[in-house]
Amino acid sequence: MRIKNYLDGNVCKNIPVLALLLIICIGIVILDRQQGKNQSSTKAIFAMDTYMELTAYGSGSEAALAAAELEIRRLDALLSTGNSTSEIARLNTEKSGVLSQDSCYLLERSIQINELTEGAFDITIYPVMEAWGFAGEEFRVPDDKELSELLQYVDMSVLEYSKETGELKMPQHTKLDFGGIGKGYTSQRVTELMREYDLEGVILNLGGNVQTFGEKPDKSDWKIAVKSPENSVPYLGILSVKDKAVVTSGGYERYFEEDGVAYHHIIDPRTGKPAQSGLMSVTVVCRDGTLADGLSTALYVLGRDKAVALWQQHSDEFDLILLDEQGKLYVTSGLENAFMSELEYEIIY
Ligand code: AMP
Ligand code: MG
Repeated sequence: MRIKNYLDGNVCKNIPVLALLLIICIGIVILDRQQGKNQSSTKAIFAMDTYMELTAYGSGSEAALAAAELEIRRLDALLSTGNSTSEIARLNTEKSGVLSQDSCYLLERSIQINELTEGAFDITIYPVMEAWGFAGEEFRVPDDKELSELLQYVDMSVLEYSKETGELKMPQHTKLDFGGIGKGYTSQRVTELMREYDLEGVILNLGGNVQTFGEKPDKSDWKIAVKSPENSVPYLGILSVKDKAVVTSGGYERYFEEDGVAYHHIIDPRTGKPAQSGLMSVTVVCRDGTLADGLSTALYVLGRDKAVALWQQHSDEFDLILLDEQGKLYVTSGLENAFMSELEYEIIY
């Protein structure tokens, strides 16, 4: 009882002081949160053979970007075909093994995208990539006989994979390449990881594979310039997106020239040659970064009509921006209010 009275008395006397302290504390918390919101960090790194730029907004931005870089380097070391100690390179040499969780996921998604795209996306393309010199940058033009021999080994149905154990076995000449899907998977993994930090929003640009989550500090959507194959046109247009990946594939991104002919790095698994589908570039806009990356490569192989037909069956999952060789631009209807361009374009419904 005595204690209660004593406390009551002191509390009453000190009410103005306590109120002032409370106001100061609330002020400090608000100020701190505001500063956290205004805080942002950017990191530029070179990995997976490309320049990457990562930007995060929020009080956890520095820690989140440090974790993001570690994750990118981890996946680069795992998936790089050119690094003899990577999981994929060892698999290509040893022809069997128990896959890591990342590779299991990538393989299962690759099988799915292969089925979805009538085989246009095919990770067993690697022997053909090597023949053209894209694996080691010693470019050459293989003849038709060599290509038809190598095409025997481009076949995902020969992969013996157990979902339960993660074990993969493949025939002697089969070799895998996650190059068409790896950056999209990485951006997806990194955004998932960054969600665990105190952040308002994130934008990652892994060499043209863009992925975003959350919001910019001013609450507006992210504005993403869609890459243009022509140097004279800096970009095809601007996309406003939220929680989406924007991934572009085009032959102009990696190619070599011989006798005045350009040979690019997206191979049609039916011919073993650089795809000639009449498209200059394909941009896929999708929540799922892995799907966006796999599809952009595959739809570049399939061409406009098949790309549109696939979109019509899956228009709730992804949208497209297609540029054909005549310079005609097509945009699927899900992007009608999100895409702005000074160029003429046709909306596809
Ligand atoms: P992207 O830049 O995402 O379109 O991927 C191109 C890369 O994917 C190439 O450099 C190859 O490593 C790989 N690739 C090429 N052709 C195919 C294909 N038809 N299916 C799957 N991956 C491919
Ligand atoms: Mg791709």
